[in-house]
This record gives sequence, C-alpha cells and structure tokens, in this order.
Amino acid sequence: MGRIIDGKALSAVVKDEVRDEVITLEAQYGRKPCLCVIIVGENPASQVYVRNKVKAAAYTGMDSLLVELPADISEEELLGKIHSLNEDPLVDGVLVQLPLPKHIDEQKVIDAIDRDKDVDGFHPGNVSSLWLGTRCIVPCTPAGIMRLIDSTGIELKGKMAVVVGRSNIVGKPVAKLLLDRHATVTIAHSRTADLGAVTRLADVLVVAVGKAGLVTGDMVKPGAVVIDVGMNRNAEGKLCGDVDFESCAKVASWITPVPGGVGPMTIAMLMKNTIDCYLARQ
Ligand code: NAP
Repeated sequence: MGRIIDGKALSAVVKDEVRDEVITLEAQYGRKPCLCVIIVGENPASQVYVRNKVKAAAYTGMDSLLVELPADISEEELLGKIHSLNEDPLVDGVLVQLPLPKHIDEQKVIDAIDRDKDVDGFHPGNVSSLWLGTRCIVPCTPAGIMRLIDSTGIELKGKMAVVVGRSNIVGKPVAKLLLDRHATVTIAHSRTADLGAVTRLADVLVVAVGKAGLVTGDMVKPGAVVIDVGMNRNAEGKLCGDVDFESCAKVASWITPVPGGVGPMTIAMLMKNTIDCYLARQ
C-alpha cells in the first residue's frame, strides 16, 4: 500500500517558513510583503479560492489586499486597476483570479500584470524565462508539485516521468520542471493513444486533466510516485481527483490524496512567490 504524501502538513511547513521570513524581512526593510488578489464577479468556486489565499496571507503575517470588482466591469477599467497596482510601491504581488467573465480577454489581463509582480507566474515573460532556464517566477501549482515529489526523497535524475495534461498552468510547466531535474519526461493528453501504456512507464506520474477517476490502478507502474492535481466534484458533490485513489494507492509507493494534496501546496507556494517578488523589488 502506497504512503500518502500529506500536502496539508507540507503546506503548513512552507507557510511557517514564510511566516518566519515575513518577520525577518519586516525587521530588515521596514515593510511587510503585500499580496493583492483581484476577483471579478461572484463565481462561487473563485470566491472560495480567493478567500483561502487571503486567509493564508493573513496566517503568514504578510499584508494582503482584496479587490472585488463587479462582473460587468469593462476590460479597460480592469486593465486600469492593474496598471495602478503595478505602479503601487507597497504592492509586491498581483494576482487576478481566473476565469474572468467572457467579455474580458484573459491573456490581455495576464500580459498587463508587471512581470515582477506576477505571483502566478503566468506572464509571457515568466513563461519564456521558465523555458529558457533563466530567473523567473514559477507557477504555484507546478512548484507545489515539485515540493510534494521531493518530500518523498525520490531522486528524479534518470527517472521516467509522465505528465497527463498539457495546460499552460500545470501540465507544460511541471513537465519543464521535471526535465530541469533530469527526469525523462513524456506529456500525455486527450489524443494520446493507449494512455495506460504510457502511464505504466512512469516512475513519477503527474495527472492534471479534470476528469474524475481517469487513472486507475492498472495504469500505474508498481512503486510509482503518483501526484493527483485534479479537482472534480463527484455525483454527491464531493471533491475528488483525476486518480482513482483506492486502486492506485495499492500499486503506488507514494500518492497524494484529494483533498489534502496538491491544493494546499498551491496556496503555500503563492505565499513563497510573494516573498520572492518582494525580495526582487528590494
Ligand atoms: P485544462 O486546461 O482543462 O487541461 C486539461 C488537459 O487534460 C488537457 O491538456 C487535455 O488534453 C487533457 N485531457 C483531457 N481529457 C483527457 C483524457 N481523457 N486523457 C488524457 N488527457 C486528457 O486543465 P488544467 O487547468 O490543467 O487543470 C487540470 C485539473 O487540475 C482540473 O481538475 C483543475 O481543477 C485541477 N487544478 C488543480 C489545481 C490545484 O491547485 N489543486 C490547480 C490547477 C488545476 P488536450 O490538450 O488534448 O485537450
């Protein structure tokens, strides 16, 4: 039976590290780091995510600013708000919660955030630096996944890693981070023929698809480390991952649960990124 990678416990460790850093930084520079979170409209899932981010910021002792804007705000007004936050010397990180209402071009909004305050790591400047291997802000979920994998003690060099899903926010960046650590990386997606044949090659399997129970125990190599990024609601409305936990846990050496795996780590890494943005601006 695989051991559980406790994302909640690890995220608490990271948030405590950040809390200590906030104290040191305030003593050194006379100001706390400040994260600004913008939410547009009243999407219930987004409201939960934003609340959790602001709560985590409060826990670490950093300052936070929640900007709540109406769903019918114009793109121009939103961009104007972002520009004023870019200029604000007391704001270190700016995050716009996605998705945005249909009439707003998300890429335009991401592009508008000062890349040095882009705590999500989605700005094209940060994305290109990630792929070039130069200094950048690493997106929170992939950064959290790497911390979860490292907590197992596995040496990634020379291992086979398979990432299922090729989104810009999870699949592609995590594949690059695994490549940086000298794993041999395969990215699978919706057109992959015989997904099981590919996933069974993985010493490290990261699944970021958005389909409950897509990966079952027979698709996992015995002893693999399995990271489940998925956040889905089952028929009873319960949060569940992309991995069928019961069958996969019997085969894996380590596995993340949902909830309590990748989700809490994403928020913890957001706190870390805010510190990095603050330091880069000093
Ligand atoms: P996304 O943008 O919708 O991308 C999904 C990916 O899965 C696509 O690359 C798609 O392939 C692939 N896919 C779809 N069906 C497949 C199948 N049957 N077999 C293999 N691949 C398939 O999703 P995302 O934003 O990366 O998010 C993925 C999941 O992670 C969601 O459940 C999301 O809620 C969750 N998530 C969690 C966190 C967290 O903090 N815990 C953060 C971000 C996302 P194509 O490219 O071919 O369409």
